[in-house]
Amino acid sequence: MLEQAKRKLQEYFGYSTFREGQESIIGSVLNGMDTLAIMPTGGGKSICYQIPALLAEGITIVISPLISLMKDQVDALTSAGVSSTYINSSLSARELNERIEELKDNQYKILYIAPERLESASFRSLLFDMNVSIVAIDEAHCISQWGHDFRPSYRSIRNMIEGFRERPIVIALTATATQEVTNDICELLDISPDNTYVTGFARDNLTFNVIKGENKRDYISNYVKANDDQAGIIYAATRREVDELYNYLKKQGIKVGKYHAGMSEHERSEQQDNFLFDKLNVMVATNAFGMGINKSNVRYVIHHNLPKNIEAYYQEAGRAGRDGERSECTLLFAGQDIQLQKFLIEQTALSDEKKIHEYQKLQQMVDLCHTEKCIQSYIIEYFGESAQDCGKCMNCRDTRSKIDITNEALMVFSCIKRMNERFGKTLVAQVLKGSKNKRIIQFGFDKLTTYRLMSNKTEKQITDLIDFLIAEGYLAMTNAQYPVLELTNKARKVLIDKQPVYKKESVTIQAIESNDQLF
Ligand code: ADP
Repeated sequence: MLEQAKRKLQEYFGYSTFREGQESIIGSVLNGMDTLAIMPTGGGKSICYQIPALLAEGITIVISPLISLMKDQVDALTSAGVSSTYINSSLSARELNERIEELKDNQYKILYIAPERLESASFRSLLFDMNVSIVAIDEAHCISQWGHDFRPSYRSIRNMIEGFRERPIVIALTATATQEVTNDICELLDISPDNTYVTGFARDNLTFNVIKGENKRDYISNYVKANDDQAGIIYAATRREVDELYNYLKKQGIKVGKYHAGMSEHERSEQQDNFLFDKLNVMVATNAFGMGINKSNVRYVIHHNLPKNIEAYYQEAGRAGRDGERSECTLLFAGQDIQLQKFLIEQTALSDEKKIHEYQKLQQMVDLCHTEKCIQSYIIEYFGESAQDCGKCMNCRDTRSKIDITNEALMVFSCIKRMNERFGKTLVAQVLKGSKNKRIIQFGFDKLTTYRLMSNKTEKQITDLIDFLIAEGYLAMTNAQYPVLELTNKARKVLIDKQPVYKKESVTIQAIESNDQLF
């Protein structure tokens, strides 16, 4: 059967070989197994259901939240000779009726629909009368409340699948799934966890950098000017920040577009088309921009603000270099952005439990910014895969030598212990520094043996050290909203077994070898 699949790949798509993961996923579907495929953006997920669709007897229904992308997918399939269509809210009543008649007449191999359609009983009964072989669920993480883009309408999918006289084969696809999202997708769609395929999260052509302590606007404007013939996306956290950065870059003479949910649909699609068709090289946008944007030659993605979690970050950064060419992802880190993200979490209508969960994920994102390990492998390990150092990211290129900081780490650990693991970073740093602030006196922390133990350092140097110890897993932050520092087993090993702690020598960021060979 795989031979047939390969022939279809060549015949319809013009590719001679499958990419990593595609073959096993397609094999699983062709064997009649419900399957979950986790593949990074640009990894080639569509082929994983399109090839089985071509080999199946009946029709394949593709559920996708990306209305804007359906038409593109259908156009591409039609020009490849695959009979396909879509049904979504952009159709007029006449077009809709026409398509329904054509579907009843078995004219299509693939039908794209938006999940909201499934809420209509008459639409469901139309589907139940069709010979449906496969149901493909794109952006499957939308089914999970733990995912970063939960959509209640995805919850109708299960009912729909169970409504068929004969259960079709289910294939769920997503680019971002942590272990708990994976478990959720499997459970909610009744897919055996053994049929989960995680492939190729490493994006070898991407270089990751985290920049701290720079003036963000200057950095971005210099970066964009230095790469003015390249396409890039700059993500900012809020509409207001997008507007401000857009105006700033425009004033600098840069031809720039903007995109956020506060703009009219007309404005948005105009800006998006300008970017897609290379009339604009630079797009400043909120995270509303990009899901489903199929522009392969984006050479850089800059994050003006800290994203809310690593899934969102990797998905947004991953919009660079979909053509496989070398591209750069730069995150501009500033401590205030953590407050902004916390504020945004507070604004949501999530339950307290979910908010705590979001705070934890935010903390993992912050940890990513403070680690000295390979940034790419830190991300991949977050997704539960093992990884090798990429050799290209800022941390891999950082040639500073490592110094033994066991003594300083021990000072921090014992101070946290003496404060009964009940306080946050700032207060611990102030005790170590020897600050005389009111809370310290009130709690009697000025009597601790660890008081003033690091008086030769600035408070900022001490909090940076604590951030590093969190990122490397020596300390944990509990009670995510008002984080409290606790020691982990890794720290206890330092305290008890005298295991050494190393950190790169502190020098200024500018001393790190620049990445000028990239472009
Ligand atoms: P995803 O949905 O995972 O983001 P797509 O399905 O859009 O990715 O595929 C990304 C690109 O890779 C598309 O241009 C697609 O044609 C191409 N592609 C997919 N499979 C193969 C393959 N086996 N060989 C070469 N190119 C492929």
